[in-house]
Amino acid sequence: MQTTTPQINNFAPDAPEALSFDLNGLPERVAEPDISVIIPVYNEEDSLGALFSKISQALTPLNKTWEVVLVDDGSTDRSYEKLKMLAALDPRIKVVRFVRNFGQTAAMSAGIDHAAGKIIVPMDADLQNDPADIENLLNKLDEGFDVVSGWRKQRQDELFSRLIPSWTANKIISMISGVRLHDYGCSLKAYRKEVIKGIRLYGEMHRFVPIYASWMGARITEVPVTHHARQFGQSKYGIERTIKVILDLMTVKFLSSYATKPIYIFGSFGLWSFIASFVGLAWMLVLKYGYNTTFIETPLPIMVSMCFMLGVQFILMGLMAEVLMRTYHESQDKRIYIVKSVLNTETDPKRS
Ligand code: UDP
Ligand code: MG
Repeated sequence: MQTTTPQINNFAPDAPEALSFDLNGLPERVAEPDISVIIPVYNEEDSLGALFSKISQALTPLNKTWEVVLVDDGSTDRSYEKLKMLAALDPRIKVVRFVRNFGQTAAMSAGIDHAAGKIIVPMDADLQNDPADIENLLNKLDEGFDVVSGWRKQRQDELFSRLIPSWTANKIISMISGVRLHDYGCSLKAYRKEVIKGIRLYGEMHRFVPIYASWMGARITEVPVTHHARQFGQSKYGIERTIKVILDLMTVKFLSSYATKPIYIFGSFGLWSFIASFVGLAWMLVLKYGYNTTFIETPLPIMVSMCFMLGVQFILMGLMAEVLMRTYHESQDKRIYIVKSVLNTETDPKRS
């Protein structure tokens, strides 16, 4: 939950809020700043000081109000002590600490939940992203986009374990999702609050947020951003992440295309299985009566019965999925559509 003190509400002037200071000379925190920078932190003690001063340097000249939400994802080094010190020095720093390591996606999700800004800018804690790029992202948002994704055009990571798997994964994601971006994995992005607040994230899915947003009608673009080699600590990921990303993509695609009609996908597998089983049966009969080949001389009987059983299973699974989907939508009063606006209607359509 977002916490605001009455003092903050009372003293928040209109503009330019970014330049206001309280009686102790500290920069003042405002209840709803223009920008929330979200940073998952997992064992990044050496980067945090430099990270915050770079963010501050990059954002102060923009003449906008801002906050930084740092989520300590169960760090085992001194990251939390560093964050505590920073938060004591600057009230625009919010810190959320997890009881254990839940992963980057969970940390980002918590950061979004605790952010109060109108624009949400996630980035990494390891100084690989450059806060100086935030200005470019914001300019793009001003052009009318809802999501601006960073593209690490000159990415400074290992070729075989990182760049090639990532290039392949990006191509596949772009093809399957129909959302054309070069670099889904880049953490540095900018979102309007409205497009990101309702999204629930699972697995490694933070990279798919632009895809969700685009499916919900958001306008998306990308801008090249600088990428630095890691200076401190080490990367938390290896090549196995690519596999997780591909599996997550299958889930996302399934949910987007079939979430409200699962019987279509299970049912079509089931029907194709039935067709294969009947074709096999017909072929068996032709072989027996036309060519004098007995049933047991071919593998056909096994295939026919297997396909038939698979068909029955798929259809029943599809029906079960339909029940689940209805429970999901109806128990939470979710809609299968999203309304942009209405004119002259009495009811206030819920966003699902
Ligand atoms: N991170 C996290 N929890 C984890 C792994 C990573 O919060 O379990 C954070 C990490 O501190 C960094 C960001 O996620 O701020 C990206 O991690 P990393 O730099 O290791 O990924 P890479 O840049 O190598 O893809
Ligand atoms: Mg990194």
